[in-house]
Amino acid sequence: MARKVRVRFAPSPTGPLNVGGLRTALYDYLFAKKHGGDFVLRIEDTDRLREVPGTEAYILEALAWAGISPDEGPRIGGDYGPYRQSERADLYQKYADQLIAKGKAYYAFDTPESLDELRAKAEKDGGSFRYDHSVREGLDTSLSMSNEALNERLSSGDPYTIRLKIMEGSTISFDDTVRDQVSFSTDQMDDKIIMKADGMPTYHLANIVDDHLMEITHVIRGEEWLSSTPHHVFMYDALGWEMPIFSHLPLILKPVGKGKLSKRDSAKFGFPVFPLDWHNADGALEFDGFREAGFIPQAVINFLAFLGWNPGTEQEMFDLPALVQAFSLDKIGKSGARFDFDKAKWFNQQYMIQMADEDLAIEAKAFFDDSVCHDKIVTICKLFKERVYSLKELPEVSTYLFSAPTKYDEKTIRKRYKIENKAAIQEMISSLNTLVSFEADTIQNTIKGKIEAEELKFGEILPVFRIALTGTLKGPDIFEVIAVLGKGEMTARMHAGLDLFDAIWKAKHEQA
Ligand code: GLU
Repeated sequence: MARKVRVRFAPSPTGPLNVGGLRTALYDYLFAKKHGGDFVLRIEDTDRLREVPGTEAYILEALAWAGISPDEGPRIGGDYGPYRQSERADLYQKYADQLIAKGKAYYAFDTPESLDELRAKAEKDGGSFRYDHSVREGLDTSLSMSNEALNERLSSGDPYTIRLKIMEGSTISFDDTVRDQVSFSTDQMDDKIIMKADGMPTYHLANIVDDHLMEITHVIRGEEWLSSTPHHVFMYDALGWEMPIFSHLPLILKPVGKGKLSKRDSAKFGFPVFPLDWHNADGALEFDGFREAGFIPQAVINFLAFLGWNPGTEQEMFDLPALVQAFSLDKIGKSGARFDFDKAKWFNQQYMIQMADEDLAIEAKAFFDDSVCHDKIVTICKLFKERVYSLKELPEVSTYLFSAPTKYDEKTIRKRYKIENKAAIQEMISSLNTLVSFEADTIQNTIKGKIEAEELKFGEILPVFRIALTGTLKGPDIFEVIAVLGKGEMTARMHAGLDLFDAIWKAKHEQA
């Protein structure tokens, strides 16, 4: 019987999850859901020294925000727990012992100082030191001592590590759904440590033991783990375990298309590379998040899905259920995917446009002052969503709906305002004030009707309304804006504007 698909996302809690990590989690999730399987979160925290507090909570929050919450994991539970490796610490020794018993691993008693010396010497000779088959026999290991001597060393309490005994002159090959068959020469592989002197497993051992015990069927992870995979395959073979199917995802590249995207690029290029804001231990904002930059999770997910995968069609808009439907490992590309922030903005705008204004207003609420009511935010969403790329811009572009402009586009007024049109404009204001239904279409009919009746020029009248009411020529439908402002505010702003425009007109004509 085919095994149930189980895919894990296995971050180390060494800092906030970046968009690369979120993309891995997304692909893990998509594949699991596509096949009716489980999406498991496992925290790989065997390296306690590198642990950054708050990371786990951040990861869970980011996944929840993105809508890809795990089925199993720390704080969630599940049948295969615990899901933090630090809580599974006593599980791993047994497998290290099995590898030793099979002759696939050995004890190494080298001190950090003696290894430093070997490294320094190799560097001095122009090379680099690798702990492998070529040197291990001459080092302080269980391979070079009798059983009695070994037992003595072990019981003396001497610190030791356990290393893999990689054979020389051989090749380790495995299948990868992205890269087909991948082969590594064992001559290029080091004898990796699998148990550290503090009794904790390294990533390599803990990772494969947990993938085995948690019945993981597919390992979908970043390309940076490809070079560790032959060591993992070596252990799977040695332990006689069924191997998961591997997929190593292409790198995410800087916007320039070269080099791996890094957290420093956020400050350099001025865009977020993390899903959520990250604050350091002192509470200061260290990295900006997509959420706080005003991105809708669906848009970020859609954008990330396309960084390394494509459906093979022209379609670009995929919400999460559509991605689950369309996703397949064989459409993941080998070459690095360029992080194009403009594309992320484009996706965000598309989702904003598609969303119902009522729903968008709920997403946008966090960006407005608490005093702004829901209905007003709905109106702002309706008027401005096609003109911005993020929710964060909505309060900025709509300030004139809250207070009268303090700056006016005087250049345009100098060009377009004619004092001889003033009387007609004032009549329009009066007529608007008599409207029973003060809606965009009745407002439009009133203003346009007057312009036509008096044979005025649209280009001389509408900019006057626009600039008096909003300060600028840019903006959404002016009749909608007038409706939102209401009669009183419209009237006050128009009169204040006309006073100023008169003064501008006079100054211009006095100069002439
Ligand atoms: N703990 C590794 C990381 O931090 C996981 C690699 C893997 O998925 O095997 O990315």
